[in-house]
Amino acid sequence: MAGVRKAFGANVVLSGVDLTVDRGECVVLIGASGSGKSTLLRCANLLETVDDGVITFEGEDITDPRVNGDEVRSRMGLVFQSYNLFPHLSVLGNVTLALRKVHGVSSAEADQRGLAMLDRVGLAEKSKARPDDLSGGQQQRVAIARALVANPRLMLLDEVTSALDPELVGEVLDLLSDLKSEGVTMVLNTHEMGFARDVADTVCFLHDGVVHETGTPAQVIGDPQQERTRAFLSRIR
Ligand code: ADP
Ligand code: MG
Repeated sequence: MAGVRKAFGANVVLSGVDLTVDRGECVVLIGASGSGKSTLLRCANLLETVDDGVITFEGEDITDPRVNGDEVRSRMGLVFQSYNLFPHLSVLGNVTLALRKVHGVSSAEADQRGLAMLDRVGLAEKSKARPDDLSGGQQQRVAIARALVANPRLMLLDEVTSALDPELVGEVLDLLSDLKSEGVTMVLNTHEMGFARDVADTVCFLHDGVVHETGTPAQVIGDPQQERTRAFLSRIR
């Protein structure tokens, strides 16, 4: 994305964000609460329309008003802090719903792909359970499986461990780390600096509506050059 601007009324949240994500890359967004991390992910997913700037996805300008947002979103996976699973559906039903309803996959094939995806996130034996019978960490892994099952080209993950009890955070971060090893392209925001250091290829510090500092984790977290980045990191440590 280049020069992305987004305001809500007089509140200019993004004032010219430049960000490039390469295939297979894991980009971690950091920044204070309210710095626009979620807004950036929502703009990337076309859940928000940008005021200015261009977002290119797989070679296509998706900010072009003629673009079909649903079609673009079907090529991305988005996971939120609150996993938003349907309580009345089984785990497998949650994972396969979009495959059947959006992607037009037959029930038999959807079940087969859903089970394979649940196996990949370590929850094959929970396929018939209801979401409420799972721990928060397990529910979030189901939400990630649901986003991954349609083979998205890009995964957007908005603070996916923030709602979890501390002892459940690790299993979700381990899963994200596995996905990174498997070549899944990801943009995520998190306050887990250990994860960012270990798994991110690129860390972007959002401040004042722009990417204020960017580089490898060793650069941005280990040896920040900007005073604002240092101040932010010292507050969250
Ligand atoms: P972060 O995820 O970094 O905490 P957000 O992107 O959620 O930040 O929010 C950035 C700013 O945008 C905040 O000031 C927030 O109040 C504002 N904002 C976000 N979404 C909306 C919205 N739908 N309507 C109005 N203001 C919003
Ligand atoms: Mg947020």
